Amino acid sequence: MNKAVFLDRDGVLNKELGDYVCKLEDFNVMRHNFSALKELQSRGYLLIVITNQGGLAKGWYSENILDEMHNHLRNTYRDQGIYFTEIYYCRHHPEFNGNCLCRKPGSILLEKAIARFGIEASLSYFIGDRERDVIAGEAVGVKGILIDSDQPIGEILNLIN
Ligand SMILES: [Mg+2]
Ligand SMILES: [Zn+2]
Repeated sequence: MNKAVFLDRDGVLNKELGDYVCKLEDFNVMRHNFSALKELQSRGYLLIVITNQGGLAKGWYSENILDEMHNHLRNTYRDQGIYFTEIYYCRHHPEFNGNCLCRKPGSILLEKAIARFGIEASLSYFIGDRERDVIAGEAVGVKGILIDSDQPIGEILNLIN
């Protein structure tokens, strides 16, 4: 069995803007997390991103722009020897798509990752800056860790085995 640290994106890996990040120029990867994520990786955790991107449903940015942001995120971390196993996103928004279940606090994206990568939920964690991240994680038996937006992950490493 694998174990994973699931990560919210905005406010955890890149700077929280208070709204959707719509442009690559506004996507600011937080460098203060390099050593903490490298440490988690060396402890044997897969790093998997789970993010709500309802701005897609609203038409505020395109899937191509989102791919550019995620390539930038992956490349910036890869240069540090850190690899994201997968980046899952929900492209829906309740105003347009009803209740899609993959939008956090829905847990479908976590369930997908758990099944695909053979993850043991009870050994895994979800780090997020919103209550809905913790709710999504705990719905599938993953321990949720709530941080402040843009808080360095190094400050909560002691909560992870
Ligand atoms: Mg967030
Ligand atoms: Zn969705």
